Amino acid sequence: LAPAAWAQGTCPPTRADMEGPFYKPDAPRREATGKGFAVTGAVKSSGSCAPLPGARVEWWQANPGGEYDDAHRGSLVAGEGGRYRFETDFPPPYSGRPSHIHFKASAPGYRVLTTQLYPRAGQTAVTFDLVLIKE
Ligand code: FE
Repeated sequence: LAPAAWAQGTCPPTRADMEGPFYKPDAPRREATGKGFAVTGAVKSSGSCAPLPGARVEWWQANPGGEYDDAHRGSLVAGEGGRYRFETDFPPPYSGRPSHIHFKASAPGYRVLTTQLYPRAGQTAVTFDLVLIKE
């Protein structure tokens, strides 16, 4: 799609971002990897904005001590409207990097999206849509 089409209200793809060295596949299905910071959003198709219920969302992040651990890896399946929600601990900055949560989102017929969310200090909830590109 040309940028002009996006300007007319269609959905640009979420910008990809580094996977980093700490991704591990097969994170357990769960709706929480901590407390105090809620992430909600929807998985959608770029261009049409069609919701992608059944899409898989994975996240992984540093624990409050600044270390990656298995307690802070999770996955879920997007529901009606492509919506998803989980609660987690606020990720601390570490090794000179700002606070971030890593994501992968996938759905049949779409390119796997690997990206990161960068919450601001003090936030307790954010909305983060994951917009995928058709293969
Ligand atoms: Fe990281």
